[in-house]
Amino acid sequence: MAWEEIGEGVWRRRSRLDLNVGAVLGEDELLVVDTGSTPTEASELLAELRRVTRLPCRRVVNTHWHFDHCFGNAALLPALVHGHRRCATLLRERGEEQRAEALRWRPDRAEELAGLEIVPPGRTLVRRAEVEVGGRQVVLLHLGRGHTDHDVVVFVPDAGVLFAGDLVEEGAPPSFEDAWPLEWPGTLDRLLELGAPTVVPGHGDPVDPAFVRGQREELEAMARLCREVLDGRLPVPAALARAPFPEPTAGVALRRAGPG
Ligand SMILES: [Zn+2]
Repeated sequence: MAWEEIGEGVWRRRSRLDLNVGAVLGEDELLVVDTGSTPTEASELLAELRRVTRLPCRRVVNTHWHFDHCFGNAALLPALVHGHRRCATLLRERGEEQRAEALRWRPDRAEELAGLEIVPPGRTLVRRAEVEVGGRQVVLLHLGRGHTDHDVVVFVPDAGVLFAGDLVEEGAPPSFEDAWPLEWPGTLDRLLELGAPTVVPGHGDPVDPAFVRGQREELEAMARLCREVLDGRLPVPAALARAPFPEPTAGVALRRAGPG
C-alpha cells in the first residue's frame, strides 16, 4: 500500500503490524508521526514518501513509547523528536522492555532490533505544545491517561485531521497492557471535543467521530465492569462474559484496573 492523502497535505501510510505512519507537509518541511519498528522500516517509508514530496523531515512526533511507534526514530535524525516527557523517561529507563517486546513481534528483524539505538524524544511536552511545520500549525496534546499514561495526539486543525496513536484502534480491540481503563473513556471525550472530522488510529483505517464515540462506549462499558469487580459486586468470570472485548483483552483490562 502506498502513501495516501487523508486531508489537505496530510498523508498516512500503513506499515508493518498495521501501524499508521503520518506525514504533515508544510511549505518547506514536513513532520512525521510515529516511525515504525526499526530504522530500516522508517527509511523505507521515507523513501516511498519521496514519490509524493522532496521536502525535508525536520520534526518527528512519537505518540507513545511502544516500539512500533518509535523504534524507527534513529533513521530520521537529525530531525527534532517530539513526545511526552514520560515517553522520553520510559524509553531511557525501560527501553529494553520495548526491545524485548519488539523481538517477540518481529523475529524477522532480530538482528537489527538487537543492535538498534533507542532514541527518546528530545523535545518533550506535558500537556500541550504547538509546532509550526512550514507555515502550518500542528498541535500536540496529552489529553489524559488511556492506552498509556502519556499518549500524545497530533492535531492538524487546518486539515481537520487528528492522529490519535493507540488511544483509538481500528480493526482490532484496544490494547490494555499499559492502559488506564477507568480513565480512558474521559480521555476520548476530550479527543472528541477537538472536533476533528478525520481521526487516524494507531493501527487500521482512518475513522470518523462516530466510530470514536462507539469505541468510547465500549471502553466505558469495560470501565463499568472493572469498577463492579473492584467493588466486589461482580465476579471476574461474569465480567469477562459481559465484556465488549474478547476475553484476553478484557482480562488485561481487569488486571490493569485492579488494586495492583
Ligand atoms: Zn501502543
